[in-house]
Amino acid sequence: MKTLTGLWVLLLAAWTGCCNASAQDTASQEAARRAMAIAQSPPDAAKVLFGREVAPTPGPARAIGAYERGCLSGAVSMPADGPNWQVMRPSRNRAWGHPVLIALLERLAGKLPTEAGWPGLLIGDIAQPRGGPMLTGHGSHQIGLDADLWLMPMPDRRLSPQERDELSAADLVTPDGMGVDAAWTPQHRRLLETFAREPSITRIFVNPAIKRALCRETGSDRAWLAKIRPWWGHNYHFHIRLSCPGGEPECHDQAPPPPGDGCGKELDWWFTEEALHPPPTPPRKPLRLADLPHACAALVAAPSGQALHVPAQAR
Ligand SMILES: [Zn+2]
Repeated sequence: MKTLTGLWVLLLAAWTGCCNASAQDTASQEAARRAMAIAQSPPDAAKVLFGREVAPTPGPARAIGAYERGCLSGAVSMPADGPNWQVMRPSRNRAWGHPVLIALLERLAGKLPTEAGWPGLLIGDIAQPRGGPMLTGHGSHQIGLDADLWLMPMPDRRLSPQERDELSAADLVTPDGMGVDAAWTPQHRRLLETFAREPSITRIFVNPAIKRALCRETGSDRAWLAKIRPWWGHNYHFHIRLSCPGGEPECHDQAPPPPGDGCGKELDWWFTEEALHPPPTPPRKPLRLADLPHACAALVAAPSGQALHVPAQAR
């Protein structure tokens, strides 16, 4: 019999399509997936309209809607290179975010060598230039407040654009999904703790095996573990989520995670058969432009060959 926690999580996964990104896909795999997604989508699918925008709208920045149903105006890009970071998968053009997220990444990257013994960040997908749903991967990452960060330290040289599009990270989880493998280090724990202690970060998604390792290795100061949320995948990268910036009423915050370190029964569920091998869920219908907040329609060109019509009930 399914546990209540389990049922809830499986339903949530089906609803949000959370986090099933093929973060490791190379540029050619990614291009093939995009082409297939366009071919299979209606012309007003939000992922088609937002996926073809190559530049942001001008500021000021506005995060509009929810993490898994929204868009972003006034995005800024994470520079491809900084002293303590390199942006990966440049051909995807997803290194755009809300300015508060970009500033936070730049600031924390600089602290990591001393605070975590981590030389720097390899940065994965953030958001598209105007946010919104993507043609490949990711239920969320739509309002510029989510970022995927590789669980692999930055090498001590600059990677070429081709290497950034092709290189794979090491998988930190054993094949049975029950624990971390030999690639896991104390620096990984300190990296995640540094991010979790940042007040504006509300959630960090990691593989359940990584949460289990953190639970085991953390001493009595455990409050930061509440933000570390187990989820499928996330064995090559972790995903940080920021709260809505102040003064942005169109941005929908998520309820904070439950209190406590999350290391008890709710974590145990993730190692049951039901969670390790979940039943397949039918593909979700793609979000139409009218499913997003009304303000998002102004950020994209109308579907080809038709005037844009947003039903009143979607406003
Ligand atoms: Zn993510």
